[in-house]
Amino acid sequence: MRYEAVIGLEVHVELQTKTKAFCGCTTEFGGKPNSHVCPVCLGLPGALPMINRQVVDFALKTGLALNCKINTFNRFDRKNYFYPDAPKNYQITQNDFPICHDGYVEIETSDGSIKRIGIERIHMEEDAGKLMHTSKGSLVDFNRSGVPLIEIVTKPDIRTPEEATAYLTKLRAILFALGVSDVKMEEGSLRCDGNISVREVGVTTLGVKSEVKNMNSFKALEKALGYEYRRQCEAVENGERLTVETRRWDDSIEETRLMRSKEMANDYRYFPEGDLVTLDISDEWIERVRKTIPELPHEKAERFVREYGIPKYDAMVLTLTADMADFFDEAAKEAKDGKAVSNWIMGDLSRLMNENGTWIADLKFGPRELSGLVAIIKDGTISSAMGKKVLEFMFEEGKDPASIVKERNMVQVSDEGALLEEVKKVLAANPKVVEDYRAGKTKILGFAVGQVMKATKGQANPTVINKLVAEELERLK
Ligand SMILES: [Zn+2]
Repeated sequence: MRYEAVIGLEVHVELQTKTKAFCGCTTEFGGKPNSHVCPVCLGLPGALPMINRQVVDFALKTGLALNCKINTFNRFDRKNYFYPDAPKNYQITQNDFPICHDGYVEIETSDGSIKRIGIERIHMEEDAGKLMHTSKGSLVDFNRSGVPLIEIVTKPDIRTPEEATAYLTKLRAILFALGVSDVKMEEGSLRCDGNISVREVGVTTLGVKSEVKNMNSFKALEKALGYEYRRQCEAVENGERLTVETRRWDDSIEETRLMRSKEMANDYRYFPEGDLVTLDISDEWIERVRKTIPELPHEKAERFVREYGIPKYDAMVLTLTADMADFFDEAAKEAKDGKAVSNWIMGDLSRLMNENGTWIADLKFGPRELSGLVAIIKDGTISSAMGKKVLEFMFEEGKDPASIVKERNMVQVSDEGALLEEVKKVLAANPKVVEDYRAGKTKILGFAVGQVMKATKGQANPTVINKLVAEELERLK
């Protein structure tokens, strides 16, 4: 039987605000344990929370960028649970009225087609503290307690681990471009849980799902979902009854482990957070936030294809980082030849950067210099073969290409009179070439051109040399 996976992802994003969601404490990562705290985020009796406007702005910005509808009526709820990292014994979140709903993200699938992954909802909530288990016992650090989060929940539209990775990659790039989070998975700014079930291909009802936690890297996400898919398929094949479970990905053994089954599931007893007023979001507020959304990476890539006529693949690579995209954009605009600029960046420049471990921001020259290189090749000042050398000097010295060419006397010689002398000299020194040509071996032409190029140390214009050698051989025939 053939099976398919049905996957939905829940992504927690730590927002890059200066202060926490409901108090004025700093959100800075690290710091001495329990030094970024106050009565509100310590959950002391009588302390009252107050919503940070920036949190709402960031949630709105994300929702609008992910094509969501906005709930103008917002309420916060208490999610009750008892755990040492939650000092109030509840988390402030949004259960019934999430700020954003019904949006989508478009991903490219392995066959190159575009697929929409639906966004079910985005809600605002606060983070918990951190437990540290030492040999002397367990300690708790509340620095993270109250740090603002948004949770982005997809519809069960994802079918393979690869699609899940494509979705998370796209989402991460958008969040980064929006400036709402630093999206560092290794520091926990971006955390991903997934729901997965399997069913026979063609069936439209949903199978029994398991929730997989602790997929803290792209690699873990793909491996964990792959493992869970195989585990569930095997169980179904063997006639086992699957149960709703929460499982934890263990990176060291590359397996998911049972955390709890449905019978042990928490009942969070949600109820409205009475300490916070409801939040009405006006159209003006939404429009003000909408104006702050920059051009997103995929929009940039589409524009590059449209404006500069470069292939889709090039556009995708060039927009992987904002630095690279801006560098290309500026150089291509200046050079009026996007394809040439893209070829230099993706080819020789990337190679030099890789070999030297250099980032685009550390380059000693700017986009203007790269467009200058394209220009002097186009106008015939240097050949493209010489361009490679010039780029290396630009990379090392940071000078503009025109002065490098001048200083090193690398100018291409196109003067027919001077070059004809060289051609004559080479042919006189190689009588066999002329003989062969007479005998009908026209292929010898290429060899003769190579000899002239060598004699002129690569500075001769190859087009002119080609023409002159052909003419001279015909004359001597
Ligand atoms: Zn605080």
